[in-house]
Amino acid sequence: YYNNNTIIYFNGDFVKASEASVNLYGQSLHYGYAVFEGIKSYNTGGGTKIFKAREHYDRLRRSAELMHIPFNYTTDELTALSYEVLELNGLSDAYLRPIVMCSPNMSLSKGKESYLAIEAWEWSNGYMANKMRIMTSTFERPNPKAFKVEAKVSGHYVNSILACQEAKDAGYDEALVLDGNGYVAESSGANVFYEKDGKLYTPAKGSILPGITRATVLEICAELDIPTEEKLFKPEEMRGADAAFFCGTAAEVLALDSLDDVPFTKNWEDSLSATVQKAYRNLVVGKNLEEFKLQLGY
Ligand code: PMP
Repeated sequence: YYNNNTIIYFNGDFVKASEASVNLYGQSLHYGYAVFEGIKSYNTGGGTKIFKAREHYDRLRRSAELMHIPFNYTTDELTALSYEVLELNGLSDAYLRPIVMCSPNMSLSKGKESYLAIEAWEWSNGYMANKMRIMTSTFERPNPKAFKVEAKVSGHYVNSILACQEAKDAGYDEALVLDGNGYVAESSGANVFYEKDGKLYTPAKGSILPGITRATVLEICAELDIPTEEKLFKPEEMRGADAAFFCGTAAEVLALDSLDDVPFTKNWEDSLSATVQKAYRNLVVGKNLEEFKLQLGY
């Protein structure tokens, strides 16, 4: 993620990542009381562009607000700082990781002051060669009555690590995690869609992180006249569907092979999901959807 020359933004300065340090006596480290984002930039025809910077930084500010973490940067300031971090490190296709931590304090009261770090590292995607085999997790997503699940909070990811590792230990690539009522929620770090009879379904909001990629997929579908529905459904309904995918900033649109060893039945390339995957790729590298629709013969 970093080497001796890596520069990060850290609380007002651009500093060497290897020289930045955090205080050990803090709520962020001890209690997971920090909020963060995962953002990607792409080398587009018109230079380096951060995809959906506004949406990500609005969500970061909203996450801080929901967690009572004081945070005064504007979305425009955060975006400008992010471009600077990319430039200082000579990055174009990259992943940006802003994190808002609280100043030293070991109490269980809300944070008094926060500090911001923006880290970035190279990330070139390309499609994953293999489709993912996933399993239904025995872990549930955090209870929305116990956490602000719509906020991207560091502490929530302990649940993600447990679910992801369980799946890997059982020989799968990733986990499908349910909510406390047995409905499909999301993966450890991505949202999920399945396709059945020409329509795409995704879990309704409530027990998920409402992903920016999920919203983008819904927009793409509206543009391409692909019907969609946000609803609660159980894994039984998803098993054996025509196709399915994970979506998230890091994952982009990632084809799934099977759920609990039951394969998705359509040839991926013939699915609407594959069309969405291509449209998303077009969008992130700065091509507009109109061009893509023309290519498809819309
Ligand atoms: N759910 C979880 C738990 C995630 O960590 C992520 C990645 N941020 C997502 C969904 C997808 O969100 P986004 O599309 O905004 O990256």
